[in-house]
Amino acid sequence: MKYKVNEIFYSLQGEGHHTGTPAVFIRFSGCNLHCEWCDTNFSEYALMTEAEIVTECRRLQENCMLLLTGGEPALHADEALIDALREAGYTCIAIETNGTKPLPKGIDWVTCSPKEGTRVVLQEADEVKVVYTGQDVEKWRERISAKYHYLQPCSQQNTKHIVRYILNHPWWRLSLQTQKYIGMK
Ligand code: SF4
Repeated sequence: MKYKVNEIFYSLQGEGHHTGTPAVFIRFSGCNLHCEWCDTNFSEYALMTEAEIVTECRRLQENCMLLLTGGEPALHADEALIDALREAGYTCIAIETNGTKPLPKGIDWVTCSPKEGTRVVLQEADEVKVVYTGQDVEKWRERISAKYHYLQPCSQQNTKHIVRYILNHPWWRLSLQTQKYIGMK
């Protein structure tokens, strides 16, 4: 089995509940959605085996959080890869998903970022993080059970609008793409 990997890198998680936490990121290439603000270049990828992925992750950093992202990682990551990463010593394996595909077993932390007009199959997550552009976001709180709920500006554009919304709907929290403010990935 080979996985379509766009990049593997070590950085700080910039968004949501784990903002500021060091993590190895595995970014898979390819998604079933086509958001206009998507910043992943899906045409660039390497086909990597499970062993090659594990070796590269360990070369970058061991004993830290590991984040599966994309693209849509639920299209790519399977239990064999997650088991291999666990055996390599990664004790917190997180995923950032659009929620439209079932997840493999063995994930420790699920961030669901639902997109407008899509059929989300995920009913539970640890956090829901929505890129807010003025749409109805309350439906996502009702449909997906989660401990934390975040709204995030679209490409750093509408932060003041979001702050106003959160002040009026205080069950939401603000998530900023802090990696863009400090010039990190
Ligand atoms: S769901 Fe995420 S990865 Fe997929 S197209 Fe939208 S922004 Fe890009």
